[in-house]
Amino acid sequence: MIHKHKLRDENRGIGMTSQGTRDRLVQTLRREGIKDERVLKAITQVPRHEFVDEALSSRAYENTALPIGQRQTISQPWIVARMTEAVLDGGSPQKILEVGTGSGYQAAILAHLVEKVFTVERIDELLKLARRRLHGLRLNNIYVRHADGHLGWPSQAPFDGIMVTAAAQSVPRELLDQLGVGGQLVAPVEKNGLQRLLAIRRTDEGFEETDLGGVVFVPMLSGLA
Ligand code: SAH
Repeated sequence: MIHKHKLRDENRGIGMTSQGTRDRLVQTLRREGIKDERVLKAITQVPRHEFVDEALSSRAYENTALPIGQRQTISQPWIVARMTEAVLDGGSPQKILEVGTGSGYQAAILAHLVEKVFTVERIDELLKLARRRLHGLRLNNIYVRHADGHLGWPSQAPFDGIMVTAAAQSVPRELLDQLGVGGQLVAPVEKNGLQRLLAIRRTDEGFEETDLGGVVFVPMLSGLA
């Protein structure tokens, strides 16, 4: 354990995972259209290299998705930033639900921006790792649960925002039901064999959908693993 911490400090020293590297990633994201300064700041605050296997830590600040085991991936930083921007939608939601904890990185970003983050993951192995990491980073406003995200987290509803990080065939009805009025749900959804990132806002009258463009996510699966 001590040895591991030492290694991490050395990493910082030689720059692969340094603050400078993180700042360069933020410059890239800004160039590629991310505008919400709060989101960019959160990206500089969260050590993405802590969320991937040590063998991959030198690549943690590249703008690419990386494997996290169990045939799953940590999303590309640009998509994390874009989805975070979309769920905040210029406002200040305080209670967010994430479906697909994966590495825990997206939840950590959200934890810097909102009061409480609820996140569910169907693969127990990933969940355990994520929980340990988030605890290590003292992110105590994240609540993690081993559950099928199709069902959301009913006892904590309504949420000010919901973010789904795996692609579904359609947006689960339960998730729409758990979205508060004025809230935004962001989710990749399959359409004609391709995936589109949808932002769905709940109004007094119903739901308004905006298409944010084509994306590539791992599929949303049913049941626990
Ligand atoms: N947000 C993650 C990336 C997630 S990859 C991060 O920041 O690292 C998508 C994750 O969704 C995977 O871990 C996958 O196991 C999970 N997933 C897929 N279907 C799910 C479901 N029905 N309920 C909960 N999690 C699910």
